[in-house]
Amino acid sequence: MVRLLIKGIECYYGSIKALENVSFSISDKEFVGIIGPNGSGKTTLLRTIAGVLKPKIGTVLLDDWDIYNLKRFEVAQKIAVVPQISSTTFNFTVSEVVLMGRNPYIKRLEKESERDFDIAEKAMRLTNTLHLAERFINELSGGERQRVIIARALAQEPIVMLLDEPTLHLDISYQIEIMELLRKLCKDNGFIILSVFHDFNLAARYCDSIILLDKGKIFSIGSVDKVLTHENIKKVFNVDVVIKKHPITNSLYIIPITTLKANEPKGIKVHVICGGGSGAPLMKSLIEMGYSVTTGVLNLLDTDHEVAQSLNIPTVSAAPFSAVTRDEYEANIKMIEKVDAVILTATPFGQGNLMNILAADEALRRGLSVIVINEPPIENRDFTNGEATKLILKLKEKGAIFVKSDNEVLQILKELSMKRLAK
Ligand code: ADP
Repeated sequence: MVRLLIKGIECYYGSIKALENVSFSISDKEFVGIIGPNGSGKTTLLRTIAGVLKPKIGTVLLDDWDIYNLKRFEVAQKIAVVPQISSTTFNFTVSEVVLMGRNPYIKRLEKESERDFDIAEKAMRLTNTLHLAERFINELSGGERQRVIIARALAQEPIVMLLDEPTLHLDISYQIEIMELLRKLCKDNGFIILSVFHDFNLAARYCDSIILLDKGKIFSIGSVDKVLTHENIKKVFNVDVVIKKHPITNSLYIIPITTLKANEPKGIKVHVICGGGSGAPLMKSLIEMGYSVTTGVLNLLDTDHEVAQSLNIPTVSAAPFSAVTRDEYEANIKMIEKVDAVILTATPFGQGNLMNILAADEALRRGLSVIVINEPPIENRDFTNGEATKLILKLKEKGAIFVKSDNEVLQILKELSMKRLAK
């Protein structure tokens, strides 16, 4: 059942537009994460829903109430805010802090009722803070203090709980403890949680759905799998990531690989023919520098194959420890057709991967730049009775550039991309 409805909101700070055309709805028991780069509008969105910042256009409806038509104390009976961990200026006891959550229900000059004390006590029990009741809040650890602030929010008996990075600065065990607590409260008590996250992995593990903001607009919204994709993260955060499913938690986990630099040699595509780990450092450097990289044919279980997978490099794969087949050779040529340069690394050659040298030969025939790293020299890594050596040396005759290191390859590619830019 939809309870919170955000309809086409547009927010400004003076003439700065901070949110544009933001619309979505949230049902009860839903745990929603808000992510986005700095300045994308996350805090503004929370402030708008909290009723603090009135949108210029659009509305926020909670169970059909327009929250901007409600009085402050009425909003506070429905929406609780948990700020980032902070120390309070005044040193209250834990039970005093939690009881403050009842303020929206207590009339001016009235005292707390028995019921208010009961609700505060229940909130402390749920958050495992009852034993801290008489302690001063500033004397607690970060994790304990955050549980107390959540207890205060619970004492408000809200429909919506808004959190701004509730676990920032907490160490990992407290992070998990707080997230588990919030998720349980959300599911058991049926309220909505809307929380800003910086940590993709925490968001992926605990949220039902995610709102990805970019430049004040919703870039993507929906299930974790739908929103936290390689493509979306790359476009919005300018970061290359690897996304996997965690075997234990069964949730997505995201590993940043590299920041895509401005000035990257966009448009230059290279195909790396490698194996046995001889191509791994080069592939990593190429990706970090922003080249488009493909590779193949590589046997599954080969170190270079594993590295290529972790870097999201499109790969022509072959079965483990078996010879490259005709079909795989053809697939490799198809990839090579799309690149500007082919690099053959100093991999050992046996009968199984000779076809990979022929692929480099074919690249030359088609007029591509071919760079061969011949250190250690082919004679020292030829396990074909001289056949591989013969083929490699022929590449030189046909115009392949021979070098001795990855650095020389990077230098040549840089010159190639400069030439491309000058054109
Ligand atoms: P986030 O929480 O995603 O970092 P914010 O919601 O804080 O983003 O900010 C969104 C945009 O609004 C940014 O361009 C920011 O500079 C601007 N902004 C935020 N707060 C203010 C403010 N008090 N005055 C002027 N501009 C602001």
